[in-house]
Amino acid sequence: MVEKKWFIGVDLGGTTIKLAFINYYGEIQHKWEIPTDKSEEGRHITTHIARALDDKMEELGLPNSHFIGIGMGAPGFIEMETGFIYHAVNIGWRDFPLKDKLEMETGLPVIIDNDANIAALGEMWRGAGDGARDLLCVTLGTGVGGGIISGGEIIHGTNGMAGEIGHITSIVDGGVQCNCGKKGCLETIASATGVVRTALETMDEHPEGSLHKISGEITARDVFDAYRAGDAHATEVVNFTTSHLGLAIANLANALNPSKIVIGGGVSKAGDTLLLPLKEEFDKFALPRVKEGADFAIATLGNDAGVIGGAWLVKTKLMQKS
Ligand SMILES: [Zn+2]
Repeated sequence: MVEKKWFIGVDLGGTTIKLAFINYYGEIQHKWEIPTDKSEEGRHITTHIARALDDKMEELGLPNSHFIGIGMGAPGFIEMETGFIYHAVNIGWRDFPLKDKLEMETGLPVIIDNDANIAALGEMWRGAGDGARDLLCVTLGTGVGGGIISGGEIIHGTNGMAGEIGHITSIVDGGVQCNCGKKGCLETIASATGVVRTALETMDEHPEGSLHKISGEITARDVFDAYRAGDAHATEVVNFTTSHLGLAIANLANALNPSKIVIGGGVSKAGDTLLLPLKEEFDKFALPRVKEGADFAIATLGNDAGVIGGAWLVKTKLMQKS
């Protein structure tokens, strides 16, 4: 009975590796984390993952054959077919054959995708996506990530770069330097870092603003809290942020016609305080039928989105072969 078998989801981050055993229906049965060991250009990571999985299987008395395979999300530039990582800055990998190494160490088939993409798949399957087959996922964290699902499939593009929503140009003339090398990217505005930067740059224009009263460093959350309380400065910052984010999402939606637009990441914790002004901006630029078809939702799976998306990859890509 193939339904009795489980999937393994692995979500590799710069500080922790999230692991989970997930059943046929996308329900997490066991989940845990191990630290990411970046020493020696990250060469021990696959061994650590294999050992962590072996230990957990032994603890639960489950053989390798109980599992169909491993779906893993990794940061960086990945060749999907071979699971080869060209460059993962946060991990230290360069030309790293991740899929081959992990298959060798675990004895299980492995499928790799970009971390933002598997989070989008997770939300599609078990989260805010609610099974939508045309879904746009935008993650607002320290950066801005994205995943585009069309007809139930992640869009990768010709060399794996599709979905880099954070690097859509928002400010054409000037703008702040982005990590990608360009200037004025959406990420420099709509990430948590961007929201804080916009607030700090305009502090002097609002000497009476409530953000001056915050002790310690201002966070994006402080800005949204002040906005909710009616602070004029915070309102300017949120309007600036949501106008650029709403425009970018509307432009994408006009091209992709999604049924769900899922907003995740730390900034999304602001909930309706973010969604309401964002939708207003979106409505200005989206075609009427595009607007009608698209529902906005805040991501619901949090840190579990990646491992659940990994399991989805195993279910849809590896099971067909087995
Ligand atoms: Zn950029």
